[in-house]
Amino acid sequence: MEMLQLILDGDATPEQQDEFRAHIAECMPCFNSYQLDNALKELLKTRCNGKGAPQALVDKIKMQISQITPH
Ligand SMILES: [Zn+2]
Repeated sequence: MEMLQLILDGDATPEQQDEFRAHIAECMPCFNSYQLDNALKELLKTRCNGKGAPQALVDKIKMQISQITPH
């Protein structure tokens, strides 16, 4: 999960990125978590641009992320 945050924040080293990609290729829970986090990020970005994402949708995605067990 820490690794996921590094990747999403763009703070991971190239080695960490390789390691992470190799891991999510074989680990569905982590892959799903990555996809959801990315979707949430996109939503928040859209919000910041003033288009506005429905709060219910953001909450739904956040809940899905929190339910995923880190590997
Ligand atoms: Zn995993």
